[in-house]
Amino acid sequence: MAEKQSEKMKKMMAMLSQTRDVELTCDEVFAMLDEFTELAAQGEDVRQLMPLVQQHLDTCPDCRDEYKVLESIVLAGV
Ligand SMILES: [Zn+2]
Repeated sequence: MAEKQSEKMKKMMAMLSQTRDVELTCDEVFAMLDEFTELAAQGEDVRQLMPLVQQHLDTCPDCRDEYKVLESIVLAGV
């Protein structure tokens, strides 16, 4: 489980570094939001790990709403 998670993380980081100067679309943010929410719930520094997702959430009310829903689910599940 932990290994799978870090594999996923590596892919994510590679993806993020490739698109570093590009803003994410809502679809891309949605695709990563599960991971982002779990990391945030675990107390990880998501601003550093997934700056583009954080940046998008800061500017997009739709995705922020979605994040809040996911967050409440993750927090309730932990
Ligand atoms: Zn959005």
